[in-house]
Amino acid sequence: MTGPAPTGSGAPGFGVAAWPATYEPHGPSKGRVVLVHLYPREMSIYGDLGNTRVLQQRLVRHGYACEVRAHAPGDAPPADAHLVFGGGGQDSGQTRVKDDLARIAPTLRRLADDGVPMLMICGMYQLFGNAFSTVGGQELPGLGILDVTTTGGATRMIGPIVLRTRYGDVVGYENHSGRTVLGSDQAALGEVLHGYGNNPAGRDEGAVTGHVHGTYLHGPLLPANTALADALIGAAVERALGRPFEPEALDDTLADEARTRQIRRLLARDRDAHPARKVATAVARRLRACRAKGEPSNRTQTSM
Ligand code: GLN
Repeated sequence: MTGPAPTGSGAPGFGVAAWPATYEPHGPSKGRVVLVHLYPREMSIYGDLGNTRVLQQRLVRHGYACEVRAHAPGDAPPADAHLVFGGGGQDSGQTRVKDDLARIAPTLRRLADDGVPMLMICGMYQLFGNAFSTVGGQELPGLGILDVTTTGGATRMIGPIVLRTRYGDVVGYENHSGRTVLGSDQAALGEVLHGYGNNPAGRDEGAVTGHVHGTYLHGPLLPANTALADALIGAAVERALGRPFEPEALDDTLADEARTRQIRRLLARDRDAHPARKVATAVARRLRACRAKGEPSNRTQTSM
């Protein structure tokens, strides 16, 4: 993603310490969007803060001003948010925010019903569901905005993950003990092509209701998956300004390359691990070696 560097009013830095901050586009502003990051100190691990940064940067590069705010426990409910983000966290972080989340629940439910786009990663995804029973036996109630229920397990699901979604193929990194089960009418974010997803028993990952997205994907998720970032931004702009999103043509060459290379690499590794494929790969490697040495390749048949 390239483009003009954003200039902030008062040139704020980027990060929780600088917020609230408004980031202005270089040219005339097409309007202002309020982005709220829920609990950045308690719930923002494995680079999840990068998602807020991508949303802010892309809004600015699309020509909109972006006001970024943190919501911390005890703050006024974020009633005027146009876009809401929440990251992952340890079970202990989730325990620390659960009471405040219950306090602001009516506001978040109203915003979700009104079509405010939201992206919740891992720990916050679990808390946007019905409930999370931790591996330590603690019951954390959720908001019930997504019809999902999570139970902590003894083994963690860790590694790179690839999904097929309505935003194209999406890549990220998962690290969770929670096993999440979707309610019968709950749509998933995507189908797992590589990795674990919601739980090892199925192939579904994440959940989507209206514009509310929950997912286990860290990475952070949005830098390499710009179609999803722009879908959230488009919905936020419509919500903020009451008119359609007018995107600029951003150069996403690097993001697209990073995503497609990683997907190709992971899916090729799976194909190579398939038993039939293993034999085919071994034969092909042997043929190449014979050719390189100038030996007849039919000897590979007997030497296998
Ligand atoms: N504590 C939760 C789990 O392990 C969430 C972890 C996370 O946010 N990465 O399931």
